Amino acid sequence: MGVSPGIGHGPSYVLTVSVPEPPEGATYTGEAEQEKERAMAALTQVAGELEARGNQAGGEAEEVLKAQALMAEDPGLVVKVRSLIDRGTAAPRAVFEAFTKYRDVLAGSGGYLGERAADVGDIRDRVIALLTGQAMPGLPVAPEEPYVLVARDLAPADTALLSKDDVAAFVTEEGGPTSHTAIMARSMGVPAVVACPGATGIPPGVRVMVDGTSGDVRVQPAESDVADAVGAATARKAALATWTGPGATADGHPVPLLANVGDPAELDAAVAAGAEGVGLFRTEFLFLDRTEPPSAEEQVRAYRAALEAFPGGKVVVRTLDGGADKPLAFLPTPAEPNPALGERGLRRFARFPEVMDAQLSALAAAGASSVMAPMVATAEEAAWFAGQCRDRGLTDVGVMIEIPSAALRAGELLAEVDFVSIGTNDLAQYAFAADRGLGAVSRLQDPWQPALLDLVATTAIAAARAGKPCGVCGEAAADPALACVLAGLGVTTLSMAPSALAAVRAGLAAHTLEQCEAAADAARGRSSAADARAQARAHLPGLARLRL
Ligand code: PEP
Ligand code: MG
Repeated sequence: MGVSPGIGHGPSYVLTVSVPEPPEGATYTGEAEQEKERAMAALTQVAGELEARGNQAGGEAEEVLKAQALMAEDPGLVVKVRSLIDRGTAAPRAVFEAFTKYRDVLAGSGGYLGERAADVGDIRDRVIALLTGQAMPGLPVAPEEPYVLVARDLAPADTALLSKDDVAAFVTEEGGPTSHTAIMARSMGVPAVVACPGATGIPPGVRVMVDGTSGDVRVQPAESDVADAVGAATARKAALATWTGPGATADGHPVPLLANVGDPAELDAAVAAGAEGVGLFRTEFLFLDRTEPPSAEEQVRAYRAALEAFPGGKVVVRTLDGGADKPLAFLPTPAEPNPALGERGLRRFARFPEVMDAQLSALAAAGASSVMAPMVATAEEAAWFAGQCRDRGLTDVGVMIEIPSAALRAGELLAEVDFVSIGTNDLAQYAFAADRGLGAVSRLQDPWQPALLDLVATTAIAAARAGKPCGVCGEAAADPALACVLAGLGVTTLSMAPSALAAVRAGLAAHTLEQCEAAADAARGRSSAADARAQARAHLPGLARLRL
């Protein structure tokens, strides 16, 4: 499944996620003291490397990596490793046993602690690799040329340090169109294919070409094929760049095009791509892996940066969407069997009134007006959130429509707030009962599913009746054909990764509102995602002309 358009090619780098387990019962020959020193030196080196990489990366990645560095020298683990060595266990095996036990305890506790289990496993493997002279798991350091990163899946911690200059493309076995890998690849503007079974079997170092539009992944392609594909992609990009100005259909129906950002560092790209504002500022991305709530000053600075990037434009800040795939350490949760169905989003936010007060007050202090809540299920919740915002002087209050109940009763929610924004990523996850990070069910996450289009239509009709804006800020808005369909369904603004803006702007400008409406009707008239896409495209002839 292609999830971030463009052609990327280069040598494959298959992300190693674990090193082999050191044999059970392994012992050492020298002195216990020497073996302990060897283990301590390796732990210190790994902690130092993680910290150094954090310093180099800065920002959010620095927090993630420094927290991991602290874990590598956790006093409890150090004592355990030393005592295993005292009992005759070789250093690599001692590290394996101590860290594995700790990792399993964390994994069993679920919630935020459970999600830290992977970090402990990662430290363990790095230390063992060092002690046994094996290749270090993780990302390559200073590659000679951009590589195609192949992995089973990519977590925020894996990707925190990635540079657009080093990675030519991503290929993962897991994931879907709305998974972390897809969102991150689009925000970096790097081509990506997800849900590609067997990808990690690609031999390391062989040349790979990735087409993030069609989803094709070719191993050892002919040089001429690479040159042709790159030439066509470059020509298309140049053609799209000639369309500029605010988003509108060919007959002048305005559809403001906004940007999704997760970090003030992405604002420059959004401005450069001609975004007319920010439709979704994912504030939780600023604070992933913080153990303490962020300070008021820090929050005000981040929100102000977004407002200043778009003076006069709309900037919609979303309150913290912690939980499930976006754990926040400072909003801890008890173990939940189904975190995606638990206290995430607004539910979690409401449980921590001091954190909520701090964020809403920081937004008011920064001069924000448009604020919206994630994961709202009922009109009652929408009314409560609106009250909290208005009490603090925030005047333009919205809610995301990400839960089918909210879409079905959008009119009641709209009676309480000033606008809605449809999060098609979670709306698909909850409508189809299909985990957005799981490759095996990624076809159910296809935003062309007619049932999802029905939920969008229901919401847009309710918004039109209420005379209030209805945006889409899920990944669906980044597909130029679907963007036309969404406009045809009555969606009033579209928000997407800055890298998707040019294609969506050109696609809309090539069709009238009537064509968009006909495409929307045709898509909803089918019963499968593939048919809906084909039918809609048949009504949107300009897409083929633009090679979209
Ligand atoms: C969505 O669910 O569509 C959305 C935009 O929010 P997120 O992807 O951050 O959950
Ligand atoms: Mg969501």
